[in-house]
Amino acid sequence: PKDTVDVVVVGSGGAGFSASVSAHDHGAKVILIEKEPVIGGNAKLAAGGMNAAWTDQQKAKGIEDSLELMTKDTMKGGRNINDPALVDVLVSHSKGSVDWMTAMGADLSDVGRMGGASVNRTHRPTGGAGVGAHVVQVLYDNAVKRDIDMRMNTRGIEILKDDSGNVKGLLVKGMYKGYYWIKADAVILATGGFAKNNERVSKLDPKLKGFVSTNQPGATGDGIDVAGNAGAAMVDLEYIQAHPTLSVKGGVMVTEAVRGNGAILVNREGKRFVNEITTRDKAAAAILQQTGKSAYLIFDDSVRKSLSKIDKYIGLGVAPTADTLVKLGKLENIDGKALTESVARYNTFVTSGKDADFERPNLPRAINEGNYYAIEVTPGVHHTMGGVMIDSKAEVMNAKKQIIPGLYGAGEVTGGVHGANRLGGNAISDIITFGRLAGEQAAAYSKKK
Ligand code: ADP
Repeated sequence: PKDTVDVVVVGSGGAGFSASVSAHDHGAKVILIEKEPVIGGNAKLAAGGMNAAWTDQQKAKGIEDSLELMTKDTMKGGRNINDPALVDVLVSHSKGSVDWMTAMGADLSDVGRMGGASVNRTHRPTGGAGVGAHVVQVLYDNAVKRDIDMRMNTRGIEILKDDSGNVKGLLVKGMYKGYYWIKADAVILATGGFAKNNERVSKLDPKLKGFVSTNQPGATGDGIDVAGNAGAAMVDLEYIQAHPTLSVKGGVMVTEAVRGNGAILVNREGKRFVNEITTRDKAAAAILQQTGKSAYLIFDDSVRKSLSKIDKYIGLGVAPTADTLVKLGKLENIDGKALTESVARYNTFVTSGKDADFERPNLPRAINEGNYYAIEVTPGVHHTMGGVMIDSKAEVMNAKKQIIPGLYGAGEVTGGVHGANRLGGNAISDIITFGRLAGEQAAAYSKKK
């Protein structure tokens, strides 16, 4: 019957699609459900890239990286509370996941830098265009090619178990069909995070009450409840990340790659105040301390040309421009004289290769070419680090750390991979690697049954 499969995957973000394709390729019959009318979740919005170490793409560019270094950066960024076994999976499979995506038709050949990384390891399409939309499109095309049964407007409600506690299916609610159940040996939860649910967010972290969010409407966290009702334990739920640079004018998230490619941050007084490519938690906290709780990303045409995404921000009208920094300051009510001095001083650091003020580790280019731009930014709730507890086979665990047979989790719905703070570029890596793994494990489990 058409509602009986080996594996049902809940959520159509990067984790859900990776899990579906991988489960299929390991011999399972799959249904993918998505509660929203559109596919892609938040994964589709990801703009930074996919972190991976020791890749062919890095080698081709002469970048020296290692698994140890990516592990160290990830743990440090997560304030060392990450689950080391999960970080090991993330890091050791990262090259394999880039190759897997590439073999399916993705272009991840550009390699840039995101906050908290010691070297360039953020893989993205040539020209730096939106990696999330690209990755989701490639995965979707591959799911279509495999004729995977995808059902939109269908919400996962409750995991069903047999008398011995093994998963036997999922109760769902289709927009038109109403409630029905899908019989399956295994369920993979790939329902994403809950950054868009400010009630849930502010209960866990009252500082974030009333904050805007960068997330899509489906990021409410009902998957956390579905898992919890099935006995899953939760980890690190209180760690919620604010993305430091949400445009004040347009509400769009401005990717960290703008800073990675050379933009600086200044306050209304025209002064730099932080290492621009520090981790997201530190950058967000620093911005909130400035006048008006906002800051400005300042860059020139050379930065603009290095990242095609910037033209989108300009197109949206969130990046006013002028041919001198004094004029730019006037447009945005920033102290133009101080701004000019700050940029000149920063440019001397680019020349000397050393940031004497904030020890910014990458100084890719001076800000002195063509027109200047300013984007006013403020932090917005972006990523929820915590979630369902999984082991290194993506099996969901209960509070006694026993697995719930047949239940798997992958992506932002899970906790432990990123610790207290996720590094930019580690989400795409997480969802593809753990999605693949969950798909493979669930297919193998179903075959054994
Ligand atoms: P990840 O990055 O971990 O893949 P995303 O946020 O990209 O996560 O995708 C998660 C998807 O899961 C979203 O499209 C969201 O609408 C969907 N989703 C969330 N809860 C449910 C649910 N209960 N049933 C079906 N789909 C869900």
